Amino acid sequence: MNIVEENIIQLTLPTPYEVGDVHAYLIKGDMLTLIDAGAKTKEARESLFYQLKEVGYRPIDIEQIVLTHHHPDHVGLLGEFPRLKHIVAHKAVDLWLTRDPSFLMQNERFFNTFFIQNGIPEKFNYALSELTNYIEVTGEGSLTAILAEEDTLPGHPEWRVIETKGHAQSHLSFFRESDGLFIGGDHLIKHISPNPIIEAPMEEGRARPRPMLQYRNSLKKCLTLGLTTVLPGHGEIFSEVDEVIAKRLFSQEKRAEKVFQLLKSGPRTPYEICTQLFPKHYEKQINLTMFESIGQLDYLNHMNLIDYSLEDGIINYYAK
Ligand SMILES: [Zn+2]
Repeated sequence: MNIVEENIIQLTLPTPYEVGDVHAYLIKGDMLTLIDAGAKTKEARESLFYQLKEVGYRPIDIEQIVLTHHHPDHVGLLGEFPRLKHIVAHKAVDLWLTRDPSFLMQNERFFNTFFIQNGIPEKFNYALSELTNYIEVTGEGSLTAILAEEDTLPGHPEWRVIETKGHAQSHLSFFRESDGLFIGGDHLIKHISPNPIIEAPMEEGRARPRPMLQYRNSLKKCLTLGLTTVLPGHGEIFSEVDEVIAKRLFSQEKRAEKVFQLLKSGPRTPYEICTQLFPKHYEKQINLTMFESIGQLDYLNHMNLIDYSLEDGIINYYAK
């Protein structure tokens, strides 16, 4: 527990995930609001309740939960607040919280095709369940209101909503214009670059989102806001915001250059790129390494440096 200022308290909760601890923020205003809600584990629940108690609150005191995005380490404990009146987030969060059946089926179909088209061998099919089985690890509920760009947080009009797609299609951040304070979720983290996780399009048949391009655009948008300090979802609070953003953009471009050089020596499937870009990690983390590889391919394609063809149902990229 860390008192950032009188009305903002950072709570730090354990997660069972590789990323380690996650932060939630308790904001006092016209309502008592919790931003993000940890992972759905007993340890996280006990830790959250203990830290609330340390600052004089009980779970029944929380009136509103605001979510930065739908990932399990941010929404898990949603069901633990008996007098919760409001759950607000980007509209895409609702599909996951309500377990929208047609969206979940569409998501499953999308990833079945995605694995085949990107040349991922069948031995990795076990990893499909990570992308389709959210039921056990995600908090349950439904949004009471939707937040979008330029809205302000209910009960906290000093906080403005900034859409920051990239790491998630549902990702929002919150900006206090008066002094540049920014609640960044997983969009801005000091020590790690968020994975450009690929998601199924929200409407079937549409092209899939290209999260690396979205992430870059969201980073560039943040450069124009005048951010002074970031309260992130993971890791330490930091103020060298523009430096971190510049570093993220630069290291992505450097990695894309590496992919471009690989493609100059001959066409490759996204999976082949992945095995060459992440030789030590792809076996254990096929989804995350594939998303990162495809992110670089989307970027190079967008820069008009590479193109792809579909041969026997498999995507092959080549340098132009
Ligand atoms: Zn996340």
